[in-house]
Amino acid sequence: MSTIAFLNIAMHGRVNPTLPIVAELVRRGHAVSYHTSPAFAAKVGAAGATVRLYPGGDQPLPDPPTPLTLLSGLARTAVAILPAVLADLRRARPDLIVHDSACPWGLIAARELGVPAVSSFTTFAFNRRAPSPTRVSRELLAEALRRPGAAIGYLRARWELQRRYRTHGLPLTDLGNLREPLNLVYTSRAFQIDAGGFDRSYRFVGPSIGARPADPSFPVGELTGPILYASLGTVFDADPRLLRTFAAALAPLGGTVVIATGHTDPAQLGPLPAGVLARRSVPQLEVLARAALFVTHGGMNGTNEALNAGVPMLVVPQGADQPLVASRVVGLGAGLSLRTADVREDTVRALARRLLDEPGFRDAAGAVRTAQHEAGGYRRAADDLERHLGLEPAGRPVPADTAPRE
Ligand code: UDP
Repeated sequence: MSTIAFLNIAMHGRVNPTLPIVAELVRRGHAVSYHTSPAFAAKVGAAGATVRLYPGGDQPLPDPPTPLTLLSGLARTAVAILPAVLADLRRARPDLIVHDSACPWGLIAARELGVPAVSSFTTFAFNRRAPSPTRVSRELLAEALRRPGAAIGYLRARWELQRRYRTHGLPLTDLGNLREPLNLVYTSRAFQIDAGGFDRSYRFVGPSIGARPADPSFPVGELTGPILYASLGTVFDADPRLLRTFAAALAPLGGTVVIATGHTDPAQLGPLPAGVLARRSVPQLEVLARAALFVTHGGMNGTNEALNAGVPMLVVPQGADQPLVASRVVGLGAGLSLRTADVREDTVRALARRLLDEPGFRDAAGAVRTAQHEAGGYRRAADDLERHLGLEPAGRPVPADTAPRE
């Protein structure tokens, strides 16, 4: 049995794919701890990990969620919480640290403790063809000029990290793309852009989707088909006008239109057509399992979850890696995409109608689903972690002479 410490940032899309892996590792007899903030404690605990809370309460989301505000938030959070996190980990003495690809304090903690580390990519793996949103780019420099306070805050915190800690392997700016000797990527080689361009340290384990606690307040059994589902995710503030347009465009096509409004109060959408159900949060896996169409911002998790259910998508990217996801969905024939500026009732309805009527989209989504399933998911990720620990998958030790070399 090994002791494995997960460290993550406060975003559902970053946490969700790690939870089935945690549950699998616990099932195989390992002791798993998970550093998170109070808002995530219940679901992390439900997966079977020992929850360790970061000091300072819930971590705010970058506002607005742009590459620069993310970078400055990550670096400043790292400075603030590392002393407490390191004290926890020195007591727990983990054999392995698994940190999100945008969790700099996870990488630094591993270097400080001298413990092997694994990075968890809930987005694409990044290279020149799949560029990381936080790499040095013209857009990032332009944003730094527009928000000098955020840029200076970042540089100060980054310098502070360098001064206080062992930071080898921590990029100067690209903190959303932290690499380790083993990098778990929760998509298949079929969906990854330029899959052949990555070395063997990248394992495309496919969507890591497990059972989630049921939400008895959601009337999933009462939804009448066809079910059309729209969500702009949990990070970007969904413009109520955008969500209202989705509702109006889709209502004439569906039995039930489900809208997840995220940070936006459903009341802000105003009166909605009959058959539209708007909630801040919906049990997405259960809804997708029954849905005929998903209108999405193109978050990697939601996209993986839709492909897993073979549901075609209309992708309306809001930022981050979402334009890349949209281009991949369109390239594979599993959906269509629309720029936010072009969202009108008639454009959304016309594209939704095509996605519902032309079977090619569902067929293509189904073909990607097969590749995604074959990638192995959370069990394969747990196998890879065990091998990385020198164990045979499912926890049995490997004789020294047959241990695979990474
Ligand atoms: N999610 C959910 N209910 C909702 C909205 C989102 O369960 O009403 C989950 C969804 O299943 C996914 C995650 O939250 O696992 C969102 O991640 P994604 O990468 O799609 O988008 P993000 O919110 O990070 O932009």
